[in-house]
Amino acid sequence: MQGLSFPKNRVKNEVMSHPPPFRIGLGYDIHVLALGRPCILGGVMIPSEVGPDGHSDADVLLHALADAIFGAAGLRDIGHYFPNTDPNLKGIDSKIIVRKAIEEVKERGWQIGNVDIVLIGERPKIMLQVDEIKKSVANLLKISPAEVGLKATTNEGMDSLGQGKAIAVQAICLLYRA
Ligand code: MG
Repeated sequence: MQGLSFPKNRVKNEVMSHPPPFRIGLGYDIHVLALGRPCILGGVMIPSEVGPDGHSDADVLLHALADAIFGAAGLRDIGHYFPNTDPNLKGIDSKIIVRKAIEEVKERGWQIGNVDIVLIGERPKIMLQVDEIKKSVANLLKISPAEVGLKATTNEGMDSLGQGKAIAVQAICLLYRA
């Protein structure tokens, strides 16, 4: 049973002096849907009678993505960098938030490997815009669209998401040592 024994050169509970050259991060966001608000998802304007309400342009997809990127590097969340009480940030383009997250992780020697995103809600439907959103996110992150996963699911009629009152996004990001 030699293969199951603890490596001789590593002491139990030792803090790793050579952590792996990869990091993962998770992001989540939810916004209420409001009539007449523009619906911008992943930097793409989606034709819709409702859009996410919020202090910025309310791009819920990019908010979850920014938090995934910040989180992967062990940094604070977007509310720390872009407080929604700051009047100067009213209506800002959420691409600025993602660019800040990229800048922060790059300063620490990380590059973005791939991201995967799940949009949860009853509306709007994004089936026709999936490729366009993937391309937009890829351009923003300076990676290939093949490294961007994007799925959408309903909440089967349950709660605020399933009843079309809100939209939520989960995102995950892999960073690697440059
Ligand atoms: Mg948000």
